[in-house]
Amino acid sequence: MYIVQIASECAPVIKAGGLGDVVYGLSRELEMQGNCVELILPMYDCMRYDQIWGLHEAYRGLMVPWYGGVIYCDVFCGWVHGRLCFFIQPKSGDNFFHRGYYYGGTDDNMRFAFFSKAALEFLLVSNKRPEIIHCHDWQTGLIPVMLYEMYQYHGMGHQRVCYTIHNFKHQGIAGADILWATGLNREPYYFHYDRLRDNFNPFALNFMKGGIVYSNHVNTVSPHHAWEARYEDVGYGLGHTLEIHQGKFGGILNGVDYNIWNPQVDHHIPFHYSLDNMAGKAKNKIALRERLLLQNVDKPIIAYIGRLDQQKGVHLVHHAMYYALNRGAQFVLLGSATEAGINDWFWHEKQHLNNHPDVHLELGFNEELAHLIYAGADMMVVPSNYEPCGLTQLISLKYGTVPIVRGVGGLLSTVFDKDHDQNHAPEKRNGFVFYQTDNYALESAMERAIGLYKEYPKEFEQLAQQAMEYDYSWNNPGSTYLSVYEHIRA
Ligand code: ADP
Repeated sequence: MYIVQIASECAPVIKAGGLGDVVYGLSRELEMQGNCVELILPMYDCMRYDQIWGLHEAYRGLMVPWYGGVIYCDVFCGWVHGRLCFFIQPKSGDNFFHRGYYYGGTDDNMRFAFFSKAALEFLLVSNKRPEIIHCHDWQTGLIPVMLYEMYQYHGMGHQRVCYTIHNFKHQGIAGADILWATGLNREPYYFHYDRLRDNFNPFALNFMKGGIVYSNHVNTVSPHHAWEARYEDVGYGLGHTLEIHQGKFGGILNGVDYNIWNPQVDHHIPFHYSLDNMAGKAKNKIALRERLLLQNVDKPIIAYIGRLDQQKGVHLVHHAMYYALNRGAQFVLLGSATEAGINDWFWHEKQHLNNHPDVHLELGFNEELAHLIYAGADMMVVPSNYEPCGLTQLISLKYGTVPIVRGVGGLLSTVFDKDHDQNHAPEKRNGFVFYQTDNYALESAMERAIGLYKEYPKEFEQLAQQAMEYDYSWNNPGSTYLSVYEHIRA
């Protein structure tokens, strides 16, 4: 099958979070299962050019209609670890992707509406006619809208769209100007609750809602989150729309790329290890301590890797740090905050704890250090408020780093409590789960984990190995997406 993925990220060249990992990992798996996959991405100035091979100009002077005029784009082509990627570079004073950041502009909705339009124009004029166009998150929500309302009349009538929502929180809210810019025009038509009109702001259009309404198939990234999005507040106002379109909506669990995230082959870690030979894990723990200047004593290392924001349960992350220290554990945090208040808070903590021999806070994004932490830590805490899928716990499982998670979304679908899980036999359990959002709930789970590590080290090791036995590779999700593609193509 010929599949084109259109997204705002693809790891490792463009990665702000899990979306990048998923776009890359899924594309790779689909190719391995015998399909032809291409990706279309924005050409950001700040992406990692060192991760692209053979970058060259593929299409010069692509004319993208915009506000009744045109913006010219050049399209570059190159391979990102074997994946064929097309990068769209607009040449206009708007500098859509020459900002030194991926997201965060006040005109983000315009930037990605333009990207969506340009991606479709590129497919049209380069005569690419994929059977499936797979779009991701709000940034590409307008693609199925424009495909159905405009481009099908220009010879793209056979393309089918699969739309994956990685996070309902960011939906792409815009005013009528987006219609005039993209050429959709017809304000009264689109400002309708059955189409793009936001469910709660009658003066706004909602990209993600457009993606849901116009795509042939819609999914979020775990079965449990698909349920939550419909019935709980984590649908951020789109629950009713999902209810209307329930026949084409579901949840498909993300996978992890085990060519990158695998302690047997990971080239970022000094000592490889596997289920049969765990000696390397203890050596990585020492290497991690040396790297972060922590004392080498008989204590468990509890880690947190992820964004520092409300979604990730930042207050519980903070509490986990002090609780770990009080309970005789070490704590390593790798995270970045976009909110100034949270950023200041954690910088303050970092200074406060600077000389502490049992804790290290690394504030910023550091891919390579992340690998060493997954390999060297004993436990990983993931206390999210909500979590569509979550890659941190999936990677941790593969590295035998026991996850301590809050039972929501994808965390609930993938981590099974050692003591309390009713649905899995004891030898199939792989972590610790708590449910409430208060400190005590977190403490009870951490207490059980630290207690097991200290009092019953053999059992703890057994649990870590059970975690490693789980297969959360792309193999199964890849096949599931393929059957979705087959279904909508038919
Ligand atoms: P998100 O909601 O941010 O997409 P996920 O759990 O789905 O969360 O994916 C997070 C991914 O980003 C994981 O691969 C994790 O290792 C990585 N990551 C998050 N924060 C950092 C950081 N500060 N440095 C390095 N990697 C990070």
